[in-house]
Amino acid sequence: MSNSNLDNPTTKYYHEAYPKQEQPAPALQREMKPIPDCGETSYQGNQRLLGRKILVTGGDSGIGRAAAIAYAKEGADVAINYLPYEQKDAEDVAKIIEAAGRKVILIPGDLSDEKFCQTLVEQAHQKLGGLDNLTLVAGKQVAVDNILNLTTEQLRKTFDINVLSLFWITKAALTYLKSGSTIITTSSIQAYQPSAILLDYASTKAAIIAFTRALAKQLADKGIRANCVAPGPIWTPLQISGGQPSEAIPEFGQQAPLKRSGQPVELASLYVFLASEESSYVTADVFGVTGGLHIN
Ligand code: NAD
Ligand code: MG
Repeated sequence: MSNSNLDNPTTKYYHEAYPKQEQPAPALQREMKPIPDCGETSYQGNQRLLGRKILVTGGDSGIGRAAAIAYAKEGADVAINYLPYEQKDAEDVAKIIEAAGRKVILIPGDLSDEKFCQTLVEQAHQKLGGLDNLTLVAGKQVAVDNILNLTTEQLRKTFDINVLSLFWITKAALTYLKSGSTIITTSSIQAYQPSAILLDYASTKAAIIAFTRALAKQLADKGIRANCVAPGPIWTPLQISGGQPSEAIPEFGQQAPLKRSGQPVELASLYVFLASEESSYVTADVFGVTGGLHIN
């Protein structure tokens, strides 16, 4: 008897050349062609996070959206952060979370502002009625061909959003996180195999790994775990808004052994695992989802 649930991973999701496209950052997911699969219909929940209260940054689109949707379908209430420009994407996510029967709180604002990071945590805690998990996914990636063309403004913004905001949000949240709580950060294959055109971004992604590991050791005594997800090429707004040169978009992901980019939903169950009790002996670790490009 054949098993009808067996899918070929090279053809399971979109594997054609992508249409050439570009949007100003931060791009809107709803205007991408094709629209990334964040599990809106493809993710099935099974009550693995029943009653949890989770803050997801970058929750409007891409990988953060896939995590937020999966969390809600697993029974969690979710607060999502994004930039005001992304309100429409965020409202799309809110509808899906509400349809799953869970509470959603929308908190737009800029993570490069320390004060806002503190407000974000306060509001998430207050409006969710608790806070059990931080899922830190927001990130900035702008390709620049040469260090001589990399402005100090871009360098500082990329570090503020990708690295410093993790410190600010975690510091503010420690008042509320308790034994059994979890923190999940989002690095990249770029921490291990940095591209020449992503000097600043790759440096931040390496810093995120050190941050997560040191934090996990610092918080172990409190019973709080911290882990890191390191994605390979995933089809999201980040890539079509300056993350890659636009001529690289059609072939995006095809250099991976699985010969296609990943879809955000393909990371969802890893975030769920790391947020749940199922990963109770897992901390200070990094998990690749790379289509075979592997992280070490
Ligand atoms: P995305 O564009 O959907 O998500 C990035 C999000 O970051 C945006 O939606 C936006 O809300 C948020 N953001 C950016 N600047 C912000 C700011 N100043 N304040 C608040 N929010 C801000 O793209 P994505 O690919 O899903 O990115 C999510 C994470 O995944 C990022 O950390 C990225 O580095 C990482 N990642 C992506 C890939 C990939 O191939 N797509 C690969 C490795 C790692
Ligand atoms: Mg977005």
